[in-house]
Amino acid sequence: MYDVLIIGAGPAGLSAALWCDKLGLDTLVLEQKQEVGGQLLSVHNVIDDYPGIHAAHGRELRDQFVEQTKDCDFDLWTRVEIESVDLTAKRVKLKSGEELESIALILATGLRRRKLGIPGETELVGRGIIESATKERDTLAGKDVCVVGGGDAAAENALLLGEVCPTVTLVHRGKKLSARREFSEQLHTHHCVTVFPESRVLRIIGNDQVEAVEIERAHALKPFQMAVQGVVVRIGFEPNTDCVLGQVAVDERGYLAVDSQQETSVSNVFAIGDVANPLAPTIAGAVGAGATAAKVIASRLRS
Ligand SMILES: Cc1cc2nc3c(=O)[nH]c(=O)nc-3n(C[C@H](O)[C@H](O)[C@H](O)COP(=O)(O)OP(=O)(O)OC[C@H]3O[C@@H](n4cnc5c(N)ncnc54)[C@H](O)[C@@H]3O)c2cc1C
Repeated sequence: MYDVLIIGAGPAGLSAALWCDKLGLDTLVLEQKQEVGGQLLSVHNVIDDYPGIHAAHGRELRDQFVEQTKDCDFDLWTRVEIESVDLTAKRVKLKSGEELESIALILATGLRRRKLGIPGETELVGRGIIESATKERDTLAGKDVCVVGGGDAAAENALLLGEVCPTVTLVHRGKKLSARREFSEQLHTHHCVTVFPESRVLRIIGNDQVEAVEIERAHALKPFQMAVQGVVVRIGFEPNTDCVLGQVAVDERGYLAVDSQQETSVSNVFAIGDVANPLAPTIAGAVGAGATAAKVIASRLRS
């Protein structure tokens, strides 16, 4: 029996663990991945908006978080597979058979990239389906690529690849791009970027590597195939709530609903970081929410 069980070891979960430890709470953090850090591990840009630290990329900041928790006493289990979570009982059952209980539970499960859910998308990961244009720009140089999505992230990726690729085709569903005007203007005048509005990628084709995409365009008679060697999908994020769905209130977009103390609709169950922050997901926000939840739990346990 722990005082606090924390699910997720991104910035929010690590911050909560650090604070729980400082406040004398017996704490266990459960992380599904081998490495802690959450989305920080896929941040390849400079982080210059987290006050007090200027990091060259997410991993550098992650390493500093880890360094800071080295003297802490909380338990951390990685590569954990959760079978079920009972929020009312504060009980977590692992696929390995272990059952864990706590007085308070903190959900810090963050976000995952939304997928298209089309054939080829999963099969060709790492073989032409690109995780990060920033990281893999050099590998993509000289290749024809397709970027899927109409927001800022898709536009930024298309512009970045437009510097090194002969053709970049941006495919998006809406009539207009939802990316900020500055990006849209640059895209529409870019010499090697073509924008396909009101269009969908139906499948990604390839054996060992991505070879083509099949595209459906509004007003076109039938789908057509376009040869590409790289695909970047940027159609937003969705909250990781699968393990608690149906047990707790969520907002209209499926994010966990919390009050000003980070508490969910279930007593003594807290949600922190991006999974409960649809409007302003940031490292600073995640870290702050972790501190709030830990302090609220500590004061309740003392009273
Ligand atoms: C490309 C990119 C660039 C970014 N740049 C910036 C920036 O410059 N500045 C900034 O402030 N923010 C930036 N962000 C956002 C920032 O990374 C997030 O706001 C922050 O990581 C949120 O932290 P979190 O702990 O809430 O969630 P996450 O970082 O998503 O961590 C959640 C953790 O929970 C784990 N988890 C999920 N489900 C389970 C489960 N069932 N069992 C166990 N573990 C689970 C995940 O594996 C993960 O480790 C960027 C994000 C991306 C993707």
